Amino acid sequence: MDVYDAAGACIIVGGGLAGLTAALSLAPEQVILLSKAPLGFEASSVLAQGGIAASLGPDDDLSQHLADTLDAGDGICDESVARAILAAAPAAISELIRRGVPFDRDSQGRLILGLEAAHSRRRIVHAGGDSSGREIMHALTRRVHETPSITLFEGATVQRLLVEDNAVTGVVADDHSGPVIFSTDRVVIATGGIGGLFQHGTNPAGSWGQGLALAAKAGAAMADLEFIQFHPTALDSRSFPLKLISETVRGEGAVLVDETGDRFMAGIPGAELAPRDVVARAVWRHMGAGHRVFLDARVVPDLDFSRRFPAITRFCHAAGIDPVTEPIPVRPAAHYHMGGIAVDLAGRSSIEGLWACGEAACTGLHGANRLASNSLLEAAVCGRFAAESIKGTAPGRRKAEATASARVSADLYPVRKILTNAAGVLRDGDDLAAAAAELLPLALADGDASDPARVGLMIVIAALRRRESRGAHARTDFPNRAVSAQRIVLSLGDAIAAARELAPERVA
Ligand SMILES: Cc1cc2nc3c(=O)[nH]c(=O)nc-3n(C[C@H](O)[C@H](O)[C@H](O)COP(=O)(O)OP(=O)(O)OC[C@H]3O[C@@H](n4cnc5c(N)ncnc54)[C@H](O)[C@@H]3O)c2cc1C
Repeated sequence: MDVYDAAGACIIVGGGLAGLTAALSLAPEQVILLSKAPLGFEASSVLAQGGIAASLGPDDDLSQHLADTLDAGDGICDESVARAILAAAPAAISELIRRGVPFDRDSQGRLILGLEAAHSRRRIVHAGGDSSGREIMHALTRRVHETPSITLFEGATVQRLLVEDNAVTGVVADDHSGPVIFSTDRVVIATGGIGGLFQHGTNPAGSWGQGLALAAKAGAAMADLEFIQFHPTALDSRSFPLKLISETVRGEGAVLVDETGDRFMAGIPGAELAPRDVVARAVWRHMGAGHRVFLDARVVPDLDFSRRFPAITRFCHAAGIDPVTEPIPVRPAAHYHMGGIAVDLAGRSSIEGLWACGEAACTGLHGANRLASNSLLEAAVCGRFAAESIKGTAPGRRKAEATASARVSADLYPVRKILTNAAGVLRDGDDLAAAAAELLPLALADGDASDPARVGLMIVIAALRRRESRGAHARTDFPNRAVSAQRIVLSLGDAIAAARELAPERVA
């Protein structure tokens, strides 16, 4: 296998907001940016609609934003980390503006601040109406192309992280012309979320936690993996990913009804604007009782739907639905992973030379549930924090050795079925234990489904260990919150050992 000596350059894996921010913030240090998909495609960052949260309004400040974040996080957030990330939000917005992001402004040139569920203040900065992610990524992609210190490899999928004595020595990537080793001792994983591991997800299909698999196989610690946010209102269709009907549509007054027109959330506190997990559970239960669920925007007087929600209108039309005259069919879908590679505020993982940022990382900002629009913020802030931390390190002399060939494909099918049944909106111990038993042989094998199964197994074991319901993690057999809130940190080895104890007869 060819070895490409990165000559001291840092390698960033992933071309979403986190990866691009880290690459731009490292300039003029040399960076090699490896992205599975061309920039601007196949990244959750491009799909983001609502915007970025920052305490910028005259009635807002850090303490209010922090209080809302901690409330959503339900006892699991790392408060000092959350405080530091949220404090950096206004500067991150200024930086994005400096990099060319055209955030929406009012007639006097002031940033328009939107309101989203569980935010006590208007603090969502957006661009292009509901096309925030597309606008942000468009501007940053242009900046990346203009930055001479960034060498970009698009279509390069990192398949393996090379580690010796718990220190990074390189990565193996495949760009379809064959596997190549990039020799380096500084790697940033910014590979996004895990929605692709479920049958119904809003993330691009390629977002199945490959970065978590890379880090976990190298021995990195993972945190809060059991906390997966299911968006309650994805457009119910056969496509993958499912399109998102953003919370702001409910914010404008659209209501959830079933096929009989019954507004089944009317009696629930907060109704359609209750926290995301409450709405997702109500929709899930109603569907489990045999109903179809719709979001009805026809009831909102004077709503110019296509002007307010141009992107949603476009993809509803593409699915043959006119949201002005018909209710929109919706269902819950895996949307955001609060857990990930355990990192400190600087993005450092438990492996020397390995940083992670964005959705693939777990800083402790989100706890058991993410406050809407705090994730683009985390990607922008922590991409920069990771870059600052890397700038303080000198490239070392470790060189990667030639190694065996890397796997080129990932078979998500078996894992999607198992996780969807056991680790969805509502969970119970028997289903989770059965899922662990099914995932274990896949994870131990060396097949196309092994890496997705390893990620799935770690999620299932974390969900089994959390014998309570908290935030986005709802167990029907443990419906209450435990008295004390503990975070769960585990490694792939821990998850395999736990699954072996549950299912010794399944071990190959
Ligand atoms: C539909 C939707 C709407 C959303 N709306 C909002 C919102 O309004 N506000 C908000 O704050 N958050 C929102 N989110 C969440 C937010 O978009 C994500 O959390 C955030 O964009 C993650 O950024 P990232 O850079 O970590 O990952 P991503 O943007 O997903 O980028 C991951 C990158 O990694 C690459 N990659 C993956 N694996 C490999 C590999 N093995 N080798 C090389 N490259 C790899 C991918 O190709 C991609 O370039 C939304 C998410 C979705 C799906």
